[in-house]
Amino acid sequence: VQQTYIMLKPDALQRGLAGEIISRIEKKGYHMVRCELKMLDEAILKEHYAHIADKPFFPELVAYMTSGPVLAMIIEGENAIVGMRMLMGATKFGEALPGTIRGDFANTTTENLIHGSDSEETAAIEIKRFFGE
Ligand code: ATP
Ligand code: MG
Repeated sequence: VQQTYIMLKPDALQRGLAGEIISRIEKKGYHMVRCELKMLDEAILKEHYAHIADKPFFPELVAYMTSGPVLAMIIEGENAIVGMRMLMGATKFGEALPGTIRGDFANTTTENLIHGSDSEETAAIEIKRFFGE
């Protein structure tokens, strides 16, 4: 059984989509084992998004991710890391398929509702980053 770090981004909460998204995760058979509403700051975002911190869209990403609270979660289930990425859909607006969370609800590449760890290694790092030991 795998654990992955999932985060509902500020637009998901502002648009009232948290229930719908959590419902999809639960219907898939995954379980929420931790959950916390929190505000992020620029320091944690620079760490979390270190791989894209030098991109031109980074300031826009920080403004978006600090525009309201996020819902940080640990989601557990068989093959949950890859499985959650499939439920989420593609990063790029226009590539996310209907039936996925981003494909059904996201309208831009930046404001894409949800984050999910992309490997076992990053899942462990991100769970520690957002929930501690
Ligand atoms: P996440 O890490 O949030 O799950 P991801 O792994 O699908 O998303 P990353 O490449 O890690 O995508 O990018 C992190 C976030 O930065 C994206 O979810 C999106 O909000 C934003 N982002 C990524 N690429 C772009 C882009 N080309 N233009 C604008 N925003 C972008
Ligand atoms: Mg990513």
